[in-house]
Amino acid sequence: MFSVLVKTAKEADKVVDIADQLHGVTILSEARHGKITLAVAQEKVAQFKSEVKGQGMETTLVHGDVQGLIEATTKRTDGSIDKRSMLDSPTNVVDHSLYHTLPEIVGMLEELTTNNPDLMEMSALKHLTHEGREMALIEVWGYSYVVVVVVVVVVVVVVVVVVYRQPQNMGNKYTFFEDLANALLVCSVGTTVKPAVIIESGLHAREWISPAVNLWVIEKLLQGYRSGDATSVSMLDTYDWFILPVANPDGYQFSHDEDRMWRKNRRYINFDCRGVDLNRNFDVAFNTTGISNNCKRSNYLGFKPFSEPESSNIKALVTSLRPRLAAYLAVHSFSQVIIVPWGFSEEPLWPDNYDDIDRIAELMTTAIRVRHGTEYRKGQAYPLLGYAASGAGEDWALKEVPGIFAACIELRPGYDDPRQFLLPPKEIVPSAEEYFDSLVVMARELPKLVKNST
Ligand SMILES: [Zn+2]
Repeated sequence: MFSVLVKTAKEADKVVDIADQLHGVTILSEARHGKITLAVAQEKVAQFKSEVKGQGMETTLVHGDVQGLIEATTKRTDGSIDKRSMLDSPTNVVDHSLYHTLPEIVGMLEELTTNNPDLMEMSALKHLTHEGREMALIEVWGYSYVVVVVVVVVVVVVVVVVVYRQPQNMGNKYTFFEDLANALLVCSVGTTVKPAVIIESGLHAREWISPAVNLWVIEKLLQGYRSGDATSVSMLDTYDWFILPVANPDGYQFSHDEDRMWRKNRRYINFDCRGVDLNRNFDVAFNTTGISNNCKRSNYLGFKPFSEPESSNIKALVTSLRPRLAAYLAVHSFSQVIIVPWGFSEEPLWPDNYDDIDRIAELMTTAIRVRHGTEYRKGQAYPLLGYAASGAGEDWALKEVPGIFAACIELRPGYDDPRQFLLPPKEIVPSAEEYFDSLVVMARELPKLVKNST
C-alpha cells in the first residue's frame, strides 16, 4: 500500500491516470489535494513507483502487507468457532467478535425479528439488486408511551360510558361523549406516528465496520429497552429507527467472496466494467465533484441519478418518511470524522440549518471521545479531507427534506492509519460503543433542531 502526496488537482489526475493504466493498482482514497493511497500488486510496484516519479511526485510505502491485513479481517477467531451458537438470549444473537457474510447477517436479523416482533420489523425494499438480492430494512421502535396513551383513552372511554350512558333522556349527551372518546382514540393512534431516523449503513462494500456497528446498535437498543435502560427507552419511544444494515448487498457479498477492496455495487456495464458508486448516484449536484465518468473507477457515478436499485430504494424510503423525517445518518469508514453538508462543494457552501447540524456533530464527537478517547473531527468534506463529492445520500436527503439533521460519519480507523478499510474485528465493539454514544447525543439534540427550523 502506497501513498502519493498531490499538491494540485492536476497532479491528482496524473496519479489516477497511472492507476487506470496499470492493472493491479487500486485507488483506496482520493484527494484533490493531500494524500492519495493506493493498493499496488507486488509485480507492479516497480513500474508504479517509476511512473509516479516520472511525473515529478514521490511515493511513500504505507503498509507492506495488505494481504495480512485482509486476512486479519476475514479470519474466524478462536480456532474458527462461531460464537453465535453460544448466544441464546432473544436479543443477543450476533457474534460481534467477527465480520459476517451477508447470509449470516440476514439470518441473524431474521432471528432477532422473530424473537422481538413487538420491537422490530424486517422488510425488503421494493427493488431487488442487480444480482437479485433483497435489500433489507430494519425498523426498531418503542411503545411505552403508546401504552400510557391507550390506557388513558380506555379509562376516559369507560368513565364516559359509565357516567353518561344513562337511559333517561341522555341520548344526545351520550352521543357527544361517544364522539369525544372516538376522537381521543383516533388521536392516540395518530401520536404513534413518531419522528423517524434513517441510518444508511454499508453503502460502500468494503467498509465492513459500518454494518458491524449497526448490528451492535440494533441489539443494544433491543437489550436496553427490554431491561428498562432509560437511554434506550427514550430513543425508541421518541423515534422510529429505520436502519439499512447493508445498503449495498451485492457489493458487500462480493467483497467477501472475490475482492476485499470492492466499493461499488455490481451493475454490469460492459465486458470489463462493473459497478456504480452508489454514494455518487443521488440527485444532488449530480456529476459535478469527486466523481468519475469512467466506469472502471471506484467512484463511477452511473449514467443518471437514481439509476441503481439501491439508491432508488433509499429515495423511496426517504420520500415515504418525508413528513416525519428528523435525521439521515450515513455510516462509512474510515477517517474518524463527521462530515456535515454540503459535501459536494469545494467552495464554502452551507445549508440553512448548518449551525444546528454543526453543533450536533460537535457534540457527537465529544460523546465519542468520552467513551474510549477516540478523536473524531467534524466539518465539511473538502476542508476536512481534501475532497468534495457530489451525489451523496446525506446531502440529497437534506436537499429533499430541509431542516433535518443530515451527516456522514466515517468510522475507525483514523485518516492516517494504514489499516484503512481493514479494521481488525477486535475493534468492532469499541467502535460500536462510541458510535452508539454519538447516536444518543444525536437523538437527544434532534428536538431542538426541529424547534429551531419551525
Ligand atoms: Zn464510504
